[in-house]
Amino acid sequence: MRPIQKIKLPHDHVERLHFIKRLFPEAEGADLRSEWAGGRMQAIKKLNEVDAIAYAKNRNFLNGTVTHLSPYLRHGCITLNEVLVFVKRRFGNAAENMLMQLAWRDYWRQVWHVKGNAILSEMEPAKVKLDYQPLSDAVRQAKTGLPCMDGFIQTLTREGYLHNHARMWLASYIVHHLKTDWREAADWFESRLLDGDLASNHLSWQWVASTFSSKPYYFNKESLARYTGQRYCADCRAACPFDDNYEALSARLFKQATTEAGKLYAISPVPMHASSDSKAIAVFVHDEMLGASNLLMQKPFPKIFVFDPVLYEDWPLNRLQFMADCLSEMMSVEVWVGHTHEVLQHKGVGQLVTQDTPNLKIKALLKPYATRWEPVAKLVNVEISEQRLKRFSRYWEKVGPVLLGAV
Ligand SMILES: Cc1cc2nc3c(=O)[nH]c(=O)nc-3n(C[C@H](O)[C@H](O)[C@H](O)COP(=O)(O)OP(=O)(O)OC[C@H]3O[C@@H](n4cnc5c(N)ncnc54)[C@H](O)[C@@H]3O)c2cc1C
Repeated sequence: MRPIQKIKLPHDHVERLHFIKRLFPEAEGADLRSEWAGGRMQAIKKLNEVDAIAYAKNRNFLNGTVTHLSPYLRHGCITLNEVLVFVKRRFGNAAENMLMQLAWRDYWRQVWHVKGNAILSEMEPAKVKLDYQPLSDAVRQAKTGLPCMDGFIQTLTREGYLHNHARMWLASYIVHHLKTDWREAADWFESRLLDGDLASNHLSWQWVASTFSSKPYYFNKESLARYTGQRYCADCRAACPFDDNYEALSARLFKQATTEAGKLYAISPVPMHASSDSKAIAVFVHDEMLGASNLLMQKPFPKIFVFDPVLYEDWPLNRLQFMADCLSEMMSVEVWVGHTHEVLQHKGVGQLVTQDTPNLKIKALLKPYATRWEPVAKLVNVEISEQRLKRFSRYWEKVGPVLLGAV
């Protein structure tokens, strides 16, 4: 087991990238690209570049004016509410399209809050017959033979980011054409994303698969060619599995569902440790609160972040580097490597304050400590019943009018 170690992150971005690479030699994947440098300052820069009017017109195109805010929102460099207020002030209700997309993130998070780890199993019976083949090496290595899909996988691996439409196409191809187990594919996908988020990711895969939607998501060549600007199709020589009309594709891809219950997947337990009776308090900084403006940074207690293998062992190199960028702006935070309970024991800490999270791994890790979970503001302050959380459309019926009337 690795001994605990307090680290000092270099001020310089490039030095920091090398430092993290040396610190986690086992981390897989590419270095963080400069356009994805982490931290609140980068998030604010990207926010200032948002163009909600162009977004409404072209967000479905691969070269559309999307915000690239997802890794920053995911790690708490900036909050959904900050983006909401900014966009509403600058564009008013002309930003409706963007506000609705922001609401998708809030929606998935609320489902996670209510359902917890159940989102890692099938939420509903599939509406078509699903197969559960293992994720192939051809997909993992971007060797499917289809320039579009291989291109998306290469971008994912190189950058840790994919446009939303490409995520949908790739997920649909993997689940419905290759008949892969959606959960294995979702785990693989999430482990490569800079914005990897159990709620948005796993529930989106279920939306594509039809275990959290009323029908499976699929697409044809005409649609892909249009929204990619022919980038892959123009010179493609592959036998295209998408080149058909929707009726023919549906008949080829889908068979009648045969189960009346969704598949359940086992959840690996998180190791538990003895409780502590120390009265010393600290702020526990986790991966959803990596913004210098987080209100808990104002508390008069030590602030501790731990690169704990229980939480981050499988994260790719670029994501660890992204987190290090964020932490380097948070001057008051002590950064440690090792096991959380050992760090807290070493510091004599027995009580914690932290930001609430639906992440049950973090909840289990902190269970031995008296922990105050500070709530995170929802996108709009309205109660959404569990019934409404069954579909985004029902959630939006309630949230949409408030969101468009707010600010
Ligand atoms: C299979 C699949 C897996 C996905 N996995 C993730 C994930 O792990 N983490 C993640 O943050 N998003 C995920 N998404 C949602 C979406 O693709 C990304 O949030 C979006 O592409 C991020 O790019 P952007 O910031 O430029 O988005 P923009 O289009 O500029 O949208 C602005 C913000 O709105 C939110 N948003 C937009 N669309 C969605 C959506 N469909 N669902 C949830 N939030 C949305 C995001 O926070 C995003 O940053 C997934 C979608 C699919 C289909």
